[in-house]
Parts: sequence; C-alpha cells; structure tokens
Amino acid sequence: MSVLIYAENANGKFKKSTFEAVSYAKAIAQQNNTTLTAISIGNVAEDQLAVLGNYGAEKVLNVSSGKLTNFVNQAYAAVIAEAAKAEGADIVVLSNSFSGRGLAPRIGIKLQAAVADGATALPEQADGKFTVKKTAFSGKAFAVVELTSANKVISLTPNAYKLVETGGTAQIENFEPEVKSTDFKAIIKDIVRSTDKVSLPDAEIVVSGGRGMKGPENWALIEELADVLGAATACSKPVSDAGWRPHSEHVGQTGIAVSPNLYIAVGISGAIQHLAGISSSKVIVVINKDAEAPFFKVADYGIVGDVFEVLPQLIAAVKEL
Ligand code: FAD
Repeated sequence: MSVLIYAENANGKFKKSTFEAVSYAKAIAQQNNTTLTAISIGNVAEDQLAVLGNYGAEKVLNVSSGKLTNFVNQAYAAVIAEAAKAEGADIVVLSNSFSGRGLAPRIGIKLQAAVADGATALPEQADGKFTVKKTAFSGKAFAVVELTSANKVISLTPNAYKLVETGGTAQIENFEPEVKSTDFKAIIKDIVRSTDKVSLPDAEIVVSGGRGMKGPENWALIEELADVLGAATACSKPVSDAGWRPHSEHVGQTGIAVSPNLYIAVGISGAIQHLAGISSSKVIVVINKDAEAPFFKVADYGIVGDVFEVLPQLIAAVKEL
C-alpha cells in the first residue's frame, strides 16, 4: 500500500493548493505507515520538483513529455492511473481544482476506485471503515462518505488543509508513461493571461462585487481594497454577464468555487446560486445597504451601508494598519 499525489502546476510552478494536497497526502501516508510519491506532469524545473520533498513526498515522478505540456483531461488521468499502478498506490490524492474535478472521476474509473471529491478533512479510519468528510450540493452542505473499494481517489478542497513543511527531500525520477493517441480526443488550449494579480482559486482573501457596484466604472474601489489587502477580485454572475468584469471572476454555482480565509461581498444580494460557490469560505464579510439582504444570514460580519461610503473608509482604515 502507498499514496500517490498528483502535483498540479500552473506554468511550471506549483500552486499553494498543490502543497496543501501534498501535506494532506503525507498525513494519510503517515496514518497508514506508508510512503508518499508525487507525480508531476508538464514542464517543471528540477528545483520546483524538489520543493515537493519539503511537504513530505519521498519520491517525485516527473513526466515531461512534450505531448503532455498542456492539460488534457483523458491523457493526464491515464498517466496518473498508470503511475498509481506502477507504484502500487491504492490512494490517489489531488487538489479539487478545475482540472482536479475533471481528473478525479476518470482516475476513479481507471483504478476501479471510489472517489471522494472536495474533501475537507483527513479520512477517519476505524473498525475497518474509511470515511471522508467532503462538501456536498455545491458547497451548501457537508457529507461523510465511506469509501469501501480497495483503491480510493480523494480530491482536497483548496484552503481546507494546512501546509505542513517536513523539511524532507525527494528523489526525482523520470516517468515515461504509455500515452495513447485516443487519449487526445479533446485538447484544451491553455489561455495564459499575463497578470501579477492574485489568482482567484488560490486566493486567501477575495473581494467580490455585485450589481450594487452600479457599473464597471466603480470597480476601482473593489480593486483598491483588493490591492491593500493582497486579495483577488471576484464578482457575481450578472456582473460578468453584463461585461463589467471578465467571466473568469464569476463565482458561484455556475462559476468558480472559492474557499478563502476571508470573503468580502460588496453589493451582492446573496442568492443561493452565489452562495454555492463561496460557502466554504472561513470568514464572510457582507457590505450591503439593504439590512434584509439574504447574504447577511451567512455573514460572520456585516456592514449595513452604501458601498460608496463604506469602501473608501475601509480602504483608508486598512492603509493605516
Ligand atoms: P442583485 O441581486 O441585483 O443584488 C444587488 C445587491 O446590491 C442588493 O442586495 C442591493 O441591496 C445591494 N446594493 C445596491 N446598491 C447598493 C449600494 N449602493 N450599497 C450597498 N449595497 C447595494 N449568481 C452568481 O453570482 N453566481 C452564479 O454562479 C450564479 N448561477 C446561477 C445559476 C442559475 C441556474 C440561476 C437561475 C441563477 C444564477 N445566478 C448566479 C444568479 C443569482 O440567482 C442572482 O441573480 C445573482 O447572484 C445576483 O447578483 P447580485 O447580487 O450582484 O445582484
């Protein structure tokens, strides 16, 4: 028995959510007195691969085939499943990112494994049972699921598990999987935006604007608050539908699911479809002029007021910190 973690990279660099997944996988390996191997696919420099050792991977399988530079769901799932078989790994861990959400079920099928997607805590292993707490119904609830198959796939919700640096080193090996042309039926083209802004899915703080911002000309306030807090910016669906903000910022049931430590909702009503994408945030702050806005029901802190009065004061206060 061993554990395999898929270490996802973005443009050759591992994300924070990847290190969280490695820390989580290491804890599972320790629960079971076994080893942790990481697999990396794409162009990742050796010094980056070595960092995986610092979070607990003993071995790193490096797949650097040119055909696999860009993410292709079927092909990546085939490679990860092949690595799991080669390593005798019966637990595969990955981050519940955009790509992780597509990969987990495919790997599950290939390994005849039960899948727990969106895990939020370490598995409980007692009396021969293996149970995992995970998000359910687009983040509106939690479920505890029992994985009864011998092989298991677990995808970890970003920001749900702490980073643990072990100070270890990893042995790096090249891994050359058999890649079938039939695994390249659909190729997703990677669209890279050159920006120094904090990436939304990985952000620890998110400042999100809704229709209460009245128009794109007022977004400088959202951006300024995000800048002073080191936060990513997000928005509600109608805002991106109206073209005030790019679709990549739309959070909710039909957009990105985020789980930052702090989510600040500015002029957003708190419709159930919006809450579905943000409800696993650790602290939720709501700014809305309507004291009856549904968002206040899930808020940890609320400010009833006009965003155009509240935001400048909040920005000034944060600048003074
Ligand atoms: P509104 O509902 O118009 O709310 C604006 C808020 O701003 C109000 O609460 C108002 O009191 C407040 N406000 C106005 N002016 C000020 C001011 N000056 N100062 C302070 N507050 C002010 N929505 C999403 O966001 N994400 C999704 O993924 C999503 N998926 C959907 C899927 C389906 C199938 C459907 C049917 C809907 C979906 N929606 C989604 C839409 C959702 O139902 C809501 O319509 C949407 O979230 C509302 O956006 P909003 O809060 O920005 O706008």
